[in-house]
Amino acid sequence: MAGVLDPQLKRALAERVRFYNELGIYDFYRRDPAENPSTIDDSVIEDNPVIQPEQREPMVQRSRAVAAVPVVPEQDLFDVGNSKPVIDRAQALRVIREDLGDCTRCRLHKQGRKQIVFGVGNPKAELMFIGEAPGADEDQQGEPFVGRAGQLLNNMIKAMGLRREDIYIANIIKCRPPGNRTPERDECETCSPFLMRQIAAIKPKVIVALGAVAAKTLLAINSPMSEFRGRWFDFRGTKLAVTYHPAFLLRDPRQKKETWKDLQMVMRELGLAIPAKGVE
Ligand code: URA
Repeated sequence: MAGVLDPQLKRALAERVRFYNELGIYDFYRRDPAENPSTIDDSVIEDNPVIQPEQREPMVQRSRAVAAVPVVPEQDLFDVGNSKPVIDRAQALRVIREDLGDCTRCRLHKQGRKQIVFGVGNPKAELMFIGEAPGADEDQQGEPFVGRAGQLLNNMIKAMGLRREDIYIANIIKCRPPGNRTPERDECETCSPFLMRQIAAIKPKVIVALGAVAAKTLLAINSPMSEFRGRWFDFRGTKLAVTYHPAFLLRDPRQKKETWKDLQMVMRELGLAIPAKGVE
């Protein structure tokens, strides 16, 4: 019912539909309420400005993703005469953050994490850096890459002629693993759908995966760094490059030269001028 939808509900639905599209789901069906009385009916939806949290939370476990998605004519989700989505990127990120909530979906919530580290930066960024997992400093401050590795990442960003606020930075997982261990596969699988939604909301031109964990998780390829670097990958229609993780560069600064080559490849793609000076 095109004219009746509350704008806030419309935005929430647009974001929800985009999320399902990201998962490769394009067709939505209205269930007969008699078939399953617990399915949301129109009156419930219209009474709620946004879909209720208890209907959102089990998203990753839901076997039928269509359950909470009412049928909305596609034109309702877009400005009339304009194919631009109604919802803006910052708002989309807020919806994702809200869906994440005070996440308890994996074991990390009870293994000493202080807070969730969602991601930081410009919602309209053309460039997105994706690391592995928050460390102690990030856990303390609630922001990715703020410790020593973060200082080096800042140098990399500066060397590219950019500022931290020009780009968006996130991690594969959003909670610090105990002792900074490598994230477990199931932790990545549980958490990464939220990252996928962040990427879909921001729509960067280029993604840079920092290190092998980020590269392997995003690309679902189990290759060594030597096979990831120096070339472009397609990540759901977005160009993706891989370079060394800044924490690795702190241990082996000789690889900064190689990293600078990777970043130059990214800069060429983004049409940025390449200065002679590299990463320090
Ligand atoms: N290492 C990461 O992979 N991410 C951070 O946010 C900090 C260190």
